[in-house]
Parts: sequence; C-alpha cells; structure tokens
Amino acid sequence: MNYNKKTVRDVEVTGKKVLLRCDFNVPMAKDGSGVITDDKRIRAALPTIQYLLEQNAAVIACSHMGKPQPSFEKWVQKQTEKGKDPASLTEEKWKKSLAELSLKPVAQRLGELLGKDVSMADDVVGADAQAKAAALQPGQILLLENTRFEKGETKNDPALAKAMANMAELYVSDAFGAVHRAHASTAGVAEYLPAVSGFLIQKELDFIGGALANPKRPLVAILGGSKVSSKIGVINNLLEIADTIIIGGGMAYTFSAAQGGKVGNSLLETDWMDYSLEMVAKAKAKGVKLLLPVDTVCADKFAPDANSQIVAAGEIPDGWEGLDIGPKTVELYCAAVQDAGTVIWNGPMGVFEFPAFAKGTEAVAEALSKTDAITIIGGGDSAAAVQQLGYANKMTHISTGGGASLEFMEGKELPGVACLLDA
Ligand code: ADP
Ligand code: MG
Repeated sequence: MNYNKKTVRDVEVTGKKVLLRCDFNVPMAKDGSGVITDDKRIRAALPTIQYLLEQNAAVIACSHMGKPQPSFEKWVQKQTEKGKDPASLTEEKWKKSLAELSLKPVAQRLGELLGKDVSMADDVVGADAQAKAAALQPGQILLLENTRFEKGETKNDPALAKAMANMAELYVSDAFGAVHRAHASTAGVAEYLPAVSGFLIQKELDFIGGALANPKRPLVAILGGSKVSSKIGVINNLLEIADTIIIGGGMAYTFSAAQGGKVGNSLLETDWMDYSLEMVAKAKAKGVKLLLPVDTVCADKFAPDANSQIVAAGEIPDGWEGLDIGPKTVELYCAAVQDAGTVIWNGPMGVFEFPAFAKGTEAVAEALSKTDAITIIGGGDSAAAVQQLGYANKMTHISTGGGASLEFMEGKELPGVACLLDA
C-alpha cells in the first residue's frame, strides 16, 4: 500500500465546500443524558478543522457514532436475539435508541472547543442537511447527523456516497479510527470527489507507515495482549520486517504450552499451538530474534486482589494462571529495546487493569520512554495502558485508531487510505 498521500495542504481549499470525515465516535454517559465522557477524539480533529476554517473553506463535517440500527424491523430482530421480549419493543424505544446516538452533543462540544458556532443538521443527506450545506459560507462549519443513521453507510451504497459527495467539492478524511472500513463516508465518497487526508491520518501514515516501510533499525516489535488468534496477522507481517520480536501477555502461554510448558489456568488457545511453533521456527530461519518470557507472575484467581507468586516460564502450578511477565523477563525485554532504532508495540504485557499485574507493562513503557528509538504504540488497550500508566507524552506516536492500527500493522490495505489521492 502506498502511504504517501496528498493532504489538505496539497490542494486548494479556500472558498471550497469540504466534506470532512471525522472520527467523533466518542464515549457517552450510559444514562442517555448526552454527556460526552471523553472528548479526546473531538480535540484530535481540531488541527484539520481549524486549518480548513482559517483557509476559508466551508466545512461539512460528518462521522458515525456507535452502532445504531437504522431499520425498525432489524432493530426488533437484533433485540429479540439478545433475549428481549418482542412485545416490549416499541417504535418509540427504537427512536430513543437512535436519539442516544445523535451527534448533537458533539456539535455542542466542538463549538465550545472551536469558540465558534457549529450548526447541526437533522439528517445526513436529507432535506435539512442539503439546505444547510447549500447555505454554508466560507469559514463556517456544519455537522451532519450520525452517518450510520443511513442504511447505506455500512453497505458502502454508491447512492448515499454520491448524495454526500454532491454537497461538497472536496473530500478530506481525518477519521483514522474508521479507515479500515469501506463505508460510504469513509471510502465510497472518494469515487465522486477529489480526496485527500487531514493531519491526523497524515501523522498515522508518516509514523506507522514509515516504521513498516522504511524503519530505522533495529526494529523491535513487542507483541502482547490476550490472544494469539487476534494477533496472527500482526505476528505474520512483523516477522517479515522486524529484527526482534518480543512476545508477552496472555498469548505467551500458548507458545509456552506448545513447547511443553505447564501453564495452569492461563489463557491458552490449543488451536494455535502448532501455529506458535511454526512462528518460532520461521523466526529462527529468518534470523529474527524471537524472545519469549522466562518467568511469569501467576495468580490463584483472575482478580485484582489475587495471591501471586513468581515462577519460571512453563512451570505454572495447577490452579494458578499467568497474569504478567516476571522480573527476569522484564530485564530481558528492557535490554532488548535499549538499542532499538524503532519499536512498535501492540498488546500489554499483562493484565495491566489490575495494578498488581501492571508491572511488566509499566516497566516496558518506562524502558521505551528512555530509549532514543522511535516508539509507536498501536492497539486500543495498549494506547489506554500507556496513557493510564503516565507514559503517553514520552512516546513518539500513539495511534488514535484501535482496529485500524491493528490492520495497518497487519500490512492490510486500508480502504479509507487507499481511496485518497497519491502524493
Ligand atoms: P490491543 O487492544 O492493544 O490490541 P489486546 O486487545 O490484544 O490489546 O489485549 C489487551 C488485553 O489483554 C488487556 O485487557 C489485558 O488485560 C489482556 N491481557 C494481557 N495479558 C494477559 C494475561 N496474561 N491473561 C489474560 N489477559 C491478559
Ligand atoms: Mg483490544
């Protein structure tokens, strides 16, 4: 995939109507009050929005939020599958579920952050959106309703893409969190408009794309998290390009068990044991250094207050489960990143959500903060861990897209990036 894409700086935007795809899929309070509990994603979109407004573009912003069910019949079906009593499923309740995923609170918050009025359309491509988009003046900003209120969004329906494109003269994508999906607003519209990236996507392409395509060596990949099965693509791809691969987290126990180790109640995917042996062999054949834990912190239950003990890898007693890498492993892994040119990290080293089992993840984060290496964090939980442990501002780049960054590291083509004009 070509990571070198045109950006908003490479095209004329002044006086133009710009359709800007953002990732405003922010977490909302569960009580339906419309309170945004974390506005990080809105803040992340500000540089591109401000640039466009300063250049006197008329900005038509759009985004999805959550997973609304745009058809009543489908909603009833889904709720029934979840075990809800069909008799209780009224049209009114369905409309309420949609209203809770309105972008109106986002327009409000965005307006506060910009210090500027953000007008809000009642729909995506309906009469209200069309009228407001047509009346929009240079330097003004309009937010369309949740793109997933339209059935055609997730189906990448050309009619919807065309209707969105018709409101504007240029398409700018800055929704990195959604580029792995080929939807009408993330990829389809680019069929009908010149398409370029905003600053957020540009940064992701520069750092992650740069690290994958042309890394400063040695390239060390740290892979952890819960399951081998969710990281196959990442392991496969990084085995091709990394100099060293470090394995931690829950997936390490599948490797350990495959090599004859005792893993007690640790996370184990028996279906992937053969695969893990293949990976070890492949690394050896390729001359890639593959590091596995030499010791582990295990617990007598999966709980923050579990009793714990440190044992050698592959010697976890019956009834115990590994929840973190042990101190010798920490030493080994920290040494391995010391002279790295680039480090790509995806997947925590242990159950960092429990402070007693966050030490391995924290030690690795600290080691990264002290290297001169380019340090790149991908994956939703990994980004959260680095943030929570207080090392966020010490990393070169923390990806804003969970699923998107994973697919990026898997070497997959991202539809929302592929559709942008090459630089
Ligand atoms: P990311 O979102 O960064 O790609 P994952 O979703 O793969 O990361 O994994 C994150 C989860 O893995 C965390 O919730 C963490 O608690 C869990 N995890 C890490 N180590 C273990 C372990 N030894 N046992 C169980 N879960 C683990
Ligand atoms: Mg995750």
